[in-house]
Amino acid sequence: MPGFEFFGDAERKQVEAVLDTGVLMRYGFDGMRQGNYKAIELEKALAKRMQSKHAQLVSSGTAAITIALASAGVGAGDEVIIPTFTFVASFEAVLALGAIPILADVDDTLTLNAEAVERAITNKTKAVMPVHMCGSMADLRALKAICNSHDLILLEDACQAIGGSFEGIPLGAYGDLGAFSFDYVKTITCGEGGAVVTNNATYLKNADHYSDHGHDHIGNDRGAEAHPFLGYNYRISELNAAVGVAQIARLDEFIAIQKKNYSILREALETIPEVVFRTVPEGGVENYSFLSFFLPSEEMAVKTHSALAEASVDACFYWYYNNWHYYKKWEHLTERKSLGKLPQEVLDGLQDFTKTDFSKSDQWVSRNISCLIKLSWTELEVYERAQKMVATIKNLL
Ligand SMILES: *Cc1c(COP(=O)(O)O)cnc(C)c1O
Repeated sequence: MPGFEFFGDAERKQVEAVLDTGVLMRYGFDGMRQGNYKAIELEKALAKRMQSKHAQLVSSGTAAITIALASAGVGAGDEVIIPTFTFVASFEAVLALGAIPILADVDDTLTLNAEAVERAITNKTKAVMPVHMCGSMADLRALKAICNSHDLILLEDACQAIGGSFEGIPLGAYGDLGAFSFDYVKTITCGEGGAVVTNNATYLKNADHYSDHGHDHIGNDRGAEAHPFLGYNYRISELNAAVGVAQIARLDEFIAIQKKNYSILREALETIPEVVFRTVPEGGVENYSFLSFFLPSEEMAVKTHSALAEASVDACFYWYYNNWHYYKKWEHLTERKSLGKLPQEVLDGLQDFTKTDFSKSDQWVSRNISCLIKLSWTELEVYERAQKMVATIKNLL
């Protein structure tokens, strides 16, 4: 998955163009820029690739989720349904707005289960946020139908699945809003960065203003611009955007390499009947950033995970015990450990995690192993890796 593996001349050239002018900020300084508008250039390229009308580039994926929710009017006391298996950024972004993250089960897609979402809906629910973990997607058709019938916002966190698609539409562009991350370990990187995509002109306008202190960006005197509503600073710098301009041009090349490496590993593991692959909903195409599979039991998964590491098959994750990606280890959330006092709406509205039952998620995540697909492997390395994986797993069965 990582774009950092392929940082080279194209990226350097883009950054140097910014350094040559010295204009490191995306707004203003028009006279000095010599035509360099890297953030705008990346927004255009991203919107085009994602078949989305608009893209707003921001400082991180977490910022993108926060801004997407804010743009759609999510605020204090609103509930946002998120999966039990995700990155902590999902609830951080919700909490940043004084809104309430409501956890719901994942299924064999390793993403938000539509029936669990339906059960979690209350009269406070404002948005549903599927997170396309490890390169594959939730059943977006089912989630969209639920959102339409309950008048809810569908926000896709596509940070780990850029370049995948559902029913021919790029992931991130299927819902009302989509969020991407360009941090250093994502498929394409800006160093740090993120983006919101949407077809909704009002959401775009809100995202544009909100991510820059509420600036309306009208006219050419920044100091004289108006601030129609409160905002914040989630701007990306031109230096980061410049890296992204080079990287997005290589996205499809990266995905093709991932697909090739993924397919070799998958074909090898398919020879083991006990290994079952994650379900990809009908109509979905992965971005092949991870190969995720289930073992017959939790015990087998734990053993396989350590045996793979011992056999030097690196970058395979057992998320069930992971501090950052599964609810079981999120005691800072479940025990409400915040520096200052959380808003009363949040304290009152959070689930009582001593009583929640996420055994349906546990059943899948406890048996899952996800292996990162790297771009820099040689073909020989991939075949050797495949052999090692098969031998290691067969040895344990
Ligand atoms: C990386 C990631 C984020 C956050 O992105 P940052 O740019 O690191 O803030 C959010 N959601 C998911 C699923 C991610 O993998």
